[in-house]
Amino acid sequence: MDRRHLLSTSGILLAAATPFAWADDKKKPRTKPTPTPTPKPPPVGTAKSRVIVIGGGMAGVTVAKYLRLWGNNISVTLVERNTSYVSNILSSLVLTGQRTMASLTYNYSKLLTAYGVQVVKGDVVEIDPVGVKVKLADGTVLSADRIVMATGIEFDTVPGLGTSNRMPHAWQAGPQTTLLAQQLSAMKPGGTVVLTVPATPYRCPPGPYERACLIGDWLKAKKPGSKLIVLDANADFTAEADNFRAGFKLNNIEYVPNAGVVSVSPGTSSAGLMGITTSDGITRQANVVNMIPRQKAGGLVVKAGLANATGGRFAGVNHLNYVSTVAGAGKVHIIGDSSATTQPKAGHIANQEAKVCADAIVRSFAGLAPDQAPVTNSACYSTITMTQASWLSAVYQYDPVAKAMAISPAGTPPAASKGWDTDNFKDMNTWFNALMADSFA
Ligand SMILES: Cc1cc2nc3c(=O)[nH]c(=O)nc-3n(C[C@H](O)[C@H](O)[C@H](O)COP(=O)(O)OP(=O)(O)OC[C@H]3O[C@@H](n4cnc5c(N)ncnc54)[C@H](O)[C@@H]3O)c2cc1C
Repeated sequence: MDRRHLLSTSGILLAAATPFAWADDKKKPRTKPTPTPTPKPPPVGTAKSRVIVIGGGMAGVTVAKYLRLWGNNISVTLVERNTSYVSNILSSLVLTGQRTMASLTYNYSKLLTAYGVQVVKGDVVEIDPVGVKVKLADGTVLSADRIVMATGIEFDTVPGLGTSNRMPHAWQAGPQTTLLAQQLSAMKPGGTVVLTVPATPYRCPPGPYERACLIGDWLKAKKPGSKLIVLDANADFTAEADNFRAGFKLNNIEYVPNAGVVSVSPGTSSAGLMGITTSDGITRQANVVNMIPRQKAGGLVVKAGLANATGGRFAGVNHLNYVSTVAGAGKVHIIGDSSATTQPKAGHIANQEAKVCADAIVRSFAGLAPDQAPVTNSACYSTITMTQASWLSAVYQYDPVAKAMAISPAGTPPAASKGWDTDNFKDMNTWFNALMADSFA
């Protein structure tokens, strides 16, 4: 099994099953993604059970949709602070001018019209895990039988950065992505770009390295004589090491491991150099800095006292139903990047966790235990050049002894392509469209 293509999403039996067909890398014809089936959701009017989903990103939208598709008349309210969602996935291509922000933007209209999810625009500022209530910034209080938190991540503050916007992270696609693209475009040839990689766990393990490869290739073409330095807080590449090591060489990227950022000096002049000091005591100067800070669960999770894992950064959950492991929070489920699991923090995994969670909630309302053997998978394409990509994938199966998702077959590393090519780059777009359709369409 070495290539994933197909999102197939109907039916409760697939809730935990890997929703992909696999094809041999070169020999078999590529399998096209099947259109997401849209069975008629149950009517909302006479709903028996109520679920509030907080956060309309990859995890939240998927759990809301599948609760409506699979549930026996469950009322689902999704609360999201923004009116639309910008995909992080493929957002590094905005930096090289290969994608527009508009092409990565999704709205919530189909959730209501096709699935009957009530979408509320609002910022949840407080939750009551015991009373199963959420409070919005405008004072509205909503109550339910279950809360699903899908609030993504927040960033640590960077010493010295203050309120300066000169060192964008662009790690939550939006205005910072546009800003970083502008900064790169405005840089004179011969300039220096620094990209920092935070300590694990962070969202999308291969993401910083694939972004570096993309920028490195773009610099060669558009800004001759420029230099890209990657300062990694980790001891080595945290994913796809062989491909990235070769990709960095190809794209003339200087890689510095064990170089966590301890402070920065963004300066004041818009054209001036910026300083980045790392744990090795060295300060480097750069014209453009993509400063990706260390990450933790979305603020609401931390505020609610549910970030009880990974040194208080992420939320401990039962991997069978994604219920919080904090005492008294048995009606709160936490999925996606906010949760601490043995799976990578990735949009594909967020989609999978959402389905396992939706299935467990449906079963629970029917008085049943969650599926005791969930299976999830993760897939990721990485741009090594502006036209070529590699891939990485893994299947996870519940290990009842460890009470956690474990890679399957046990003891194997995630499967990865040997090298990269243009076919993978095309498949990346096919995979992306299928994943986004499964969540937003
Ligand atoms: C550059 C980049 C490339 C990536 N590439 C890939 C890839 O190739 N493959 C892959 O699988 N993953 C990839 N990822 C990772 C992926 O984007 C994340 O893992 C995924 O978005 C996590 O989904 P989530 O639902 O947990 O969080 P998000 O998608 O961030 O959604 C969280 C939502 O919650 C909302 N929210 C938060 N708090 C509140 C509140 N209090 N009230 C109301 N709303 C709230 C936010 O507005 C947001 O819409 C990439 C990430 C980046 C940055």
